[in-house]
Amino acid sequence: MRITSISQQECTELLQRVSIGRLACSLNDQPYVVPVAFSYEPDRLYFFSTFGKKIKWMRQNPKVCLQADEIGNRWNWISVIVTGTYSELNVPQYHTAQREHAREQLAAQCSEWWRIPLAETGDRSLVSSIETVFFRIDIKSMSGLRAVPEAEEAAKLDGVSKAALHPSD
Ligand SMILES: Cc1cc2nc3c(=O)[nH]c(=O)nc-3n(C[C@H](O)[C@H](O)[C@H](O)COP(=O)(O)OP(=O)(O)OC[C@H]3O[C@@H](n4cnc5c(N)ncnc54)[C@H](O)[C@@H]3O)c2cc1C
Repeated sequence: MRITSISQQECTELLQRVSIGRLACSLNDQPYVVPVAFSYEPDRLYFFSTFGKKIKWMRQNPKVCLQADEIGNRWNWISVIVTGTYSELNVPQYHTAQREHAREQLAAQCSEWWRIPLAETGDRSLVSSIETVFFRIDIKSMSGLRAVPEAEEAAKLDGVSKAALHPSD
């Protein structure tokens, strides 16, 4: 397997292709990571969330990190890490237009962008009473790596998939 760095352009291309990442925040020397959906635009990522631990923590420490990837198998993958700063869009300093922009960005990525966070409640009658938060991450840095299999590993993988397809050969 050969692992190489990818360019900033390739990092942004991955962030445009995928919509799920793992968001890391930390408080009092304790890290916390959760999978979340996001939408990318240059220099920013947008999110929709229910109010809970990650929001409480990011309000206290806005320095965050997000990792996203496309994994073919352990020899063939691409991974991007973003660091940045949390900003909540529900607060008065952000206008309705900015929340609307976040909503449009998320809808462009997935028509049911609101479904996962709200699904957690289980009880539909409670949905209207749930506190929700639009937030964004202003990107400070991005780095990415790509792994590609060496010829030997590719041949081994090819053999495994052939054996799976033709077990009696
Ligand atoms: C593919 C995918 C996409 C998702 N997209 C979104 C999204 O766009 N927005 C969103 O708000 N949420 C999303 N979720 C759910 C998200 O991962 C969290 O579970 C959720 O947001 C609650 O996080 P919280 O910090 O508010 O936890 P709280 O509700 O405050 O939970 C408290 C405790 O529950 C446990 N916990 C919470 N989440 C998880 C988890 N995912 N796995 C294991 N333990 C957990 C932790 O121990 C935590 O301390 C997604 C999950 C998946 C798998």
